[in-house]
Amino acid sequence: MLKLKQIVKDYQAGDTTVQALKGVSINFRENEFVSILGPSGCGKTTLLNIVGGLDKYTDGDLFINGVSTKEFDDKAWDVYRNHRIGFIFQSYNLIPHQTVLQNVELALTIAGIGKAERAARAKAALDTVGLEGQYNKRPNQLSGGQCQRVAIARALVNEPEILLADEPTGALDTETSVQIMELIENIAEKRLVIMVTHNPDLAQKYSTRIIQLLDGEIVGDSNPLSDEDEEAEMTLINARNAEKQIAAEAETSAAEGNKKRVKKHVEKAKMSLWTALKLSATNLSSKKKRTALTSFAGSIGIIGISMVLSLSYGIKSFIAGMQSDMLSGNPISITQSAYDLNALMSQTTPVQQAAAAVKAGFVNVDSMVEYLVERSEQITNISVENTIKPEYVSYVRQIPEKYDAMVKLDYGLDIGNNLYFDFKRDAASPVQKISVSGMLAKYTSVLKTTNFGSYSSYISSLSTAFSQAPNDEDYLLSQYDLLDGHVAKEKNEVMIVVNRNTELTDLLLAELGYYSEEEFLNIVYRATDDVRYDASLDKTDFTYDELKGRTFTWYGNDTVFTENPTTDEMLKDAYPYFYNEIADDGWTDGVELTVAGILRPKEDISYGCMSAGFYYTEALAEYIIENSADSQFLKDLFLKDTENETESFTSMINKGVPMGITFDYSYDYYDENKQWITATDTTCVGSTNQMALFASFFSGFGGGGDTETTTQIFSLSLQELGGSSIPVGIYIYPISFTEKDMVLEYLDAWNGDESITVGDRAYPPDTRERITYTDTLSLVINIINSLVNVITYALIAFTALSLIVSCVMISVTTYISIAERIKEIGIIRSLGGRKSDVSSLFNAETFMIGTASGVLGIVVTYVLSAIVNAIIKSLTGIAAIAIFPWHYALLMIAISMLLTTISGLIPAHSAAKKDPVVALRTE
Ligand code: ADP
Ligand code: MG
Repeated sequence: MLKLKQIVKDYQAGDTTVQALKGVSINFRENEFVSILGPSGCGKTTLLNIVGGLDKYTDGDLFINGVSTKEFDDKAWDVYRNHRIGFIFQSYNLIPHQTVLQNVELALTIAGIGKAERAARAKAALDTVGLEGQYNKRPNQLSGGQCQRVAIARALVNEPEILLADEPTGALDTETSVQIMELIENIAEKRLVIMVTHNPDLAQKYSTRIIQLLDGEIVGDSNPLSDEDEEAEMTLINARNAEKQIAAEAETSAAEGNKKRVKKHVEKAKMSLWTALKLSATNLSSKKKRTALTSFAGSIGIIGISMVLSLSYGIKSFIAGMQSDMLSGNPISITQSAYDLNALMSQTTPVQQAAAAVKAGFVNVDSMVEYLVERSEQITNISVENTIKPEYVSYVRQIPEKYDAMVKLDYGLDIGNNLYFDFKRDAASPVQKISVSGMLAKYTSVLKTTNFGSYSSYISSLSTAFSQAPNDEDYLLSQYDLLDGHVAKEKNEVMIVVNRNTELTDLLLAELGYYSEEEFLNIVYRATDDVRYDASLDKTDFTYDELKGRTFTWYGNDTVFTENPTTDEMLKDAYPYFYNEIADDGWTDGVELTVAGILRPKEDISYGCMSAGFYYTEALAEYIIENSADSQFLKDLFLKDTENETESFTSMINKGVPMGITFDYSYDYYDENKQWITATDTTCVGSTNQMALFASFFSGFGGGGDTETTTQIFSLSLQELGGSSIPVGIYIYPISFTEKDMVLEYLDAWNGDESITVGDRAYPPDTRERITYTDTLSLVINIINSLVNVITYALIAFTALSLIVSCVMISVTTYISIAERIKEIGIIRSLGGRKSDVSSLFNAETFMIGTASGVLGIVVTYVLSAIVNAIIKSLTGIAAIAIFPWHYALLMIAISMLLTTISGLIPAHSAAKKDPVVALRTE
C-alpha cells in the first residue's frame, strides 16, 4: 500500500548539498511491523518524514495506495497526514500548555470533529494506552513513559492506517521501553508500523521486518516485498475498498428510507475558527501575566486615541451645549446706541506721539490736550447711534426661521407706573391697591427710618421688577424648567423666573407686595439687629400657590396720570399732571394679570435669556403700545409739537418729560414702642435735567410736620410709557454658532450695496440707514475655536504615534510567541494541520489580544474620563469635559481588534510557512 520508488532527498546546507537519501525504494505491506535500523545521521528520520508527508522528497516517487504523490498539493498532504498517518517522536512532542486530553484531541480538533465525539474518542485512545483517569494532567506532570503513551494515544486517535515512530524508546529506560514496544506491537497487529530505531535488539524482538539503512542507502531488508506482490496486494485492497463502498451506499439509502440524517464521510482536515480561538485562549491563559501585560501595552495606543476622542467629543458637546447657553445670554443685539466693536478692534493702537528732541537747558511741552482730543475722537468713532425704523424691524423679522431660535423685540417699556396690586400695612389694616412706583417710593422712605437707611437707594435700582419675556415657549422651555403652571402667553398672564437655587430676593418680593409693610420692616429689623424685630413675623419661603395667588392690574396712562385740577396757571405749567400711586375703585380700564407659571433655569444653563424676576408677555407689550397710542397724556407731554411721529422720531425719543409730575404718598413706620407713625413724602416724576428746578420748588410746598421731602426721580421716556411702536432694542438669539454667522451675514446685507425687499417694498441702498449690531460673543469664540484646533492637531499627532508603537509591539510579541511555539507548529502540521490552521491560530491569538487591549483601553478611558471630569469639575465647575460615547467605544474596540490582527498577520503568515520538519527538530 505504500511504495517508495528511488526516493532522493537533498538538503541544502549553505553552499554544499547533503544527500540524506540516495535513491531509496521500498514497498510496504498493508500490515507489518517494520524497523529501520542504522547509525545516527544515515537518513532514518528523513525517510520517515517523507513517508509521513512531513517532508518533500527531491526526486523519485511515493505511491499511496497505488497513487503517485507527485501531484499532491498542500491540502492533499494535510488530509493524508491527518487521516492516514500517526506520528510518534522520541521527544514525545506534546504541547506543554494543554492537558493530556487536549493533546490527544488535537488531531481530531484539526479534523474539525465535534467536541463530544472528540472527547469520547480521545478518552478511549488514552484508555487503550493505559492512561485512564489521567486526562486532565499536563505533560510536565507525567513520566517519560506516560508522555510517550499520550503521544501514542494521539497518533492512534484518528485510527490511522500507518503509524510512524521515530526512536520512540530513545529517551526511555529499558523497562519502560519494553512496555512501549509491547504497546506498539499490539498496534502493529492491525496496521503498518514503521519504526526508526538504533537498537537492534528491540528491532529483532518485536518487528516483522528489518530494513538496514546506511548513508542514505538501503543495505539490507529482512523481508522485502516485490513489485509483483505489491501489485497483487493493491488489487486485493482495491477490491475490498470497492465492496466497502457498495455496502456503505446501501446503508446510506436504507438510512435515507428511514429519513435519518446521514453524515457523509468526507475526508478533510479542517479546523474551525472557533477551535482556533479556543486553542489560543488556552495558550493565552497559560501565560496570564504576559497576556495581561501585552494587552495593557496594546491598550495604551487605544487609551490615547480614546482619550483624545473623549476630550474632543466632550469639548465639542460642551461648546455645543454652551452655544445655545451662551447665545441665550449674549444675543446679537441692535440697540439705539451701541459700540462698534470692529472700530474698537482697529483702534487698539494707542496714540503715540513722537517725543521732541531734548535740547540742553530746555524742558519740552508734551501736549496732553492733543492726546485727549485724539482719544475722544476715537471714542466717538466707536460709539454709534442706530435709528431703528419699522422697515428694519420687518427686515429682522424676515430672518429665515432656520437661523434664529428667537427674536425678541424690546419696546423699552417700564410698566411700574401702571401696574397696581393689593397691599396691606399689617394684618389688621385695610387693603390698598398701590402701584409698583408708589411702593418703591414708599419703601425708600420707610427704609430711611431704619438702620438700613443708607441702603435705601438700592430698592429703587430694582425698579425694573417686571420685564418683557421672549415670546417663544419652545425656546424658553429649552432653557427653563417649569416648576409650576405654564409659560405665560396671553396678555393677562405673567410668569415668575426664580434663580437656579429656586430663590427670589426679599426686596423684589417686597416691591411687589408679597410682604405687608410690617413684615418687610421686620426683615430689615432682623438684618440690622433692631430691637423692634419680631420673630413671629418671619416669612422665609412662599409656596407656589402663594406666589401665584397674587394678581396685578395694569391701567392706562390716562388713568394713572391725571391733569392738575389747579386753577393756578404757574402751578399748572410746572406740574401739569398728578400721578395716582393708589388706584381708585372707580378705575375701569385695567388688565388683570395673573401668574401663569414659575420657571427655573435648567441645571446646565449658565446664562439663559431671563434672569430671576417677573415677566410679562409680548402680547401685553403690544396691547400697552396700542393702548398708549391714544393716550392724551402722552400726546400732551411728548407729541404735541410733532405732526408725524415717524419722521421726527429721533428728536422725540430723547425728549424726556418737559414738565413735572408730582405725587404725594404716605408711609408708615414703627416708633421705638412699635407704634405706627404715618408720614407723608412727595416725589416728582420727570426728566433728570429738570430736577434741579423742581427740587427748589418742592421746598416751598413741603407737607406736614413729619414730612421729609425726597429727591427721588422717576424719569419717564416715551418708550417707557408705551408711546413707541418701534423697539428700542432687537435681540436675536441664533440656534448655534453656524446659524449665528448666517444671521450676521443677513444683517450685514442691510448695510451692503444690494437692493433689499421688505414685505413688498424695495429698499435700494441709499434709502437704508446703516445699522450697527453688537456681537460680543464672536471675539471670545474665535479665540476658543483656534485653541481647540491647535490642541486637537497636537493630540492627533501624539496618538497616531502611540498607535504605531502599539502595532509594532503586537507584531514583536507575536513573533516571540511564534518562536516559543515553534514546536507546537510542527506538531500541528505533523497531525495534518493546514498552514492556514497555523496562521489562524496566531491570528486568533492577536485577535484576542486586540480584543482584550480594546476592552481594557475602553475601561481605562472611562475611568480616566471620570477622573478628568472630577478634576475639571473641582477646578472649574464644568460638569463633563471628557465624554466617551458608547459607539466610539465599540469603534475603538473594533479598531484595536483590526489593528492588532493586522499587526499579527505577517508574523502569523511566517509561522504558517515554517517547515514542519525544521519546526519539529527545534528544541
Ligand atoms: P538520522 O535520523 O538517521 O540520525 P537524519 O535523517 O536526521 O539522520 O539526517 C540525515 C542527514 O541529513 C544528516 O547528515 C543530517 O545532517 C542531514 N540533515 C537532516 N536534516 C537536515 C536539514 N534540515 N538541513 C541540512 N541537513 C540535514
Ligand atoms: Mg533521527
